[in-house]
Amino acid sequence: MTVASPRRVAVWTAGTVTLGAAALEVWVAGVLLDNPADFRNFAQAHWAVMLVPPLVLGLITFGAMLLFFKQLILKRLTEVFQMFDRLAPPKNPAPLGLSTDWNAFLRERVKVWKSTQESKLGALQDRDDFRRSFIGNLAHELKTPLQSIQGYVLSLLDGAVDDPAHSRKFLQKAAKNAERMGNLLHDLDVITKEESGRLDLKLVEFDVIDVVQEVFDSEERRAARADVKLILDKESPASIYAKGDAGWITQVLSNLIVNSVNYGRHDGTGSTTVRVREEAHKVYIEVEDNGIGIDDESKDRIFERFYRVDKSRSRAAGGSGLGLAICKHLIEAHNESIQVQSEVGRGSTFFFRLPKA
Ligand code: ADP
Repeated sequence: MTVASPRRVAVWTAGTVTLGAAALEVWVAGVLLDNPADFRNFAQAHWAVMLVPPLVLGLITFGAMLLFFKQLILKRLTEVFQMFDRLAPPKNPAPLGLSTDWNAFLRERVKVWKSTQESKLGALQDRDDFRRSFIGNLAHELKTPLQSIQGYVLSLLDGAVDDPAHSRKFLQKAAKNAERMGNLLHDLDVITKEESGRLDLKLVEFDVIDVVQEVFDSEERRAARADVKLILDKESPASIYAKGDAGWITQVLSNLIVNSVNYGRHDGTGSTTVRVREEAHKVYIEVEDNGIGIDDESKDRIFERFYRVDKSRSRAAGGSGLGLAICKHLIEAHNESIQVQSEVGRGSTFFFRLPKA
């Protein structure tokens, strides 16, 4: 199909105007010079002069038509495309000047629009994949402890309840699995709050050493059970103030210290050391353990949700697989980052900074 391009329309209109002007000229000359012989002589002598006005009029019409298309129609078209795909105005919104090419312009715009839509579609597909795998993981994480609880309850109902030794053991196991589900739901709550912007950071000035001591106190029994020592490094200041959400930083330190115990040495030589240092504008905090360590490949992935290096050890310890993902979210919400250094068999060090108060 031939498209009526602006250039073609302008050529036809200019041609029509040129011919019309020539015809008008001939008619006027015919009226002024009654005698046909006079008219013929005049036309022969002045044909070049007679050609000028129609040609000039034709050229002016041609230019005006192109300008009209460029200014009006292509401008409107650009606006429609911009409205359609909310693109920034292209550098050359309409082909310039007298070489206006509507087809090329449309092809270019459709190409840009298509690639924008493709990248939007790609992002939506990524989000959909992520959502699907997240729900899959979550269902799996909830199913495992729930099935254990059901198993122990059914065993109790089947008669184990009358055997005091077994009934106590089964109830303890059911309670442990219920605790695991509770931890998972708590962690999930933090992650969803963070993602929907409901984390509501309350930035205050707080003593980092107080927070470390508080976490040591609450994890003391867990550490003692695993035979892991909790140590506040001697060179740390007695008190140092940082600016942040004290509650959420307590949560971060708690997750790191619980991990250092869970994945620490359980043979009596295990230890977790917290170091706090004052820097020019920041407070540096690190949690070091001498436990199992993390291999290089896993180091890049441990901050992902539900990623576990040692699945059975994590589950046995009641881990949700979300602890480090939460730490990352919470520290990033403070505009800082959390990092890890680790060596398999030698231990791991997690560290981050907070603005100094
Ligand atoms: P989990 O609930 O499984 O502990 P996390 O998100 O806290 O989940 O940790 C993710 C994984 O990273 C753990 O399953 C474990 O394999 C590894 N990990 C975390 N902290 C340590 C550590 N201090 N030493 C060794 N491995 C660790």
